[in-house]
Amino acid sequence: VIRTEKLNKSFGDKQVLKNIDFKVRRREVVALIGPSGSGKSTLIRCLNALEKADSGEIYIQGERLDPNLPVKQLSPMRRELGMVFQNFNLFPHMSVLQNVIEAPLLVRKMSRDQAVALGESLLKKVGLLEKRDAFPNRLSGGQKQRVAIARALAMQPRALLFDEPTSALDPELVGEVLKVMKDLAYEGSTMVVVTHEMQFARDVSDRVVFMSDGSIVEEGDPEELFRAPKERRTQLFLERVL
Ligand code: ATP
Ligand code: MG
Repeated sequence: VIRTEKLNKSFGDKQVLKNIDFKVRRREVVALIGPSGSGKSTLIRCLNALEKADSGEIYIQGERLDPNLPVKQLSPMRRELGMVFQNFNLFPHMSVLQNVIEAPLLVRKMSRDQAVALGESLLKKVGLLEKRDAFPNRLSGGQKQRVAIARALAMQPRALLFDEPTSALDPELVGEVLKVMKDLAYEGSTMVVVTHEMQFARDVSDRVVFMSDGSIVEEGDPEELFRAPKERRTQLFLERVL
């Protein structure tokens, strides 16, 4: 679904992505882990053309993503990937249901009835149907994040990209969001999850990719990578976080 080839990106004179070859297959759940500043967010932001790489290629569904294309041509490709951010980014002036159906209505030109039906089924899926008419400021962080997930799903993307979806949450709310993500994973969704939740990475992902200092240092089967990391940098990182 996603493939990058020798992706490079610098901010000023600091190179934050170094020759990144990253691949996500259909129905695969990839956990992207690594120290702060290693380039995880930058990598997934490049996949969605929120950042522009300096060199290298990105393919989404085999089609080359050229961030220099005009927005009109870029948007259909960006829509293939749904983003879920740390800070929810819900529209504050819209109800929960409106948040979820806004894009299907405007972008997919879905009929109102169809969009509402879709929105309700997605809210049900994340356990928030009873909050359909509430506004975001009345929701807990965990509920907001579940709405954000429903909203990303509403565009029926090929893959979901999560950037630390639980890091802004109070500890007691982390579980409800991970539960929704786990359900999605078991249903066969294609997902990239940047996370500090090592337990989630270990239990749910199909593959773990460890980044450090702009490079993919090591990747592999979660069980193996956590039990017996091969690279020194991976060992040091895991010793610190586990
Ligand atoms: P974290 O775990 O803290 O979220 P990360 O692995 O997601 O870290 P990135 O956010 O990708 O790391 O950042 C990689 C490097 O790029 C960091 O040194 C960061 O300071 C720098 N950086 C990121 N965005 C920008 C920007 N817009 N302008 C300048 N530097 C940036
Ligand atoms: Mg980040």
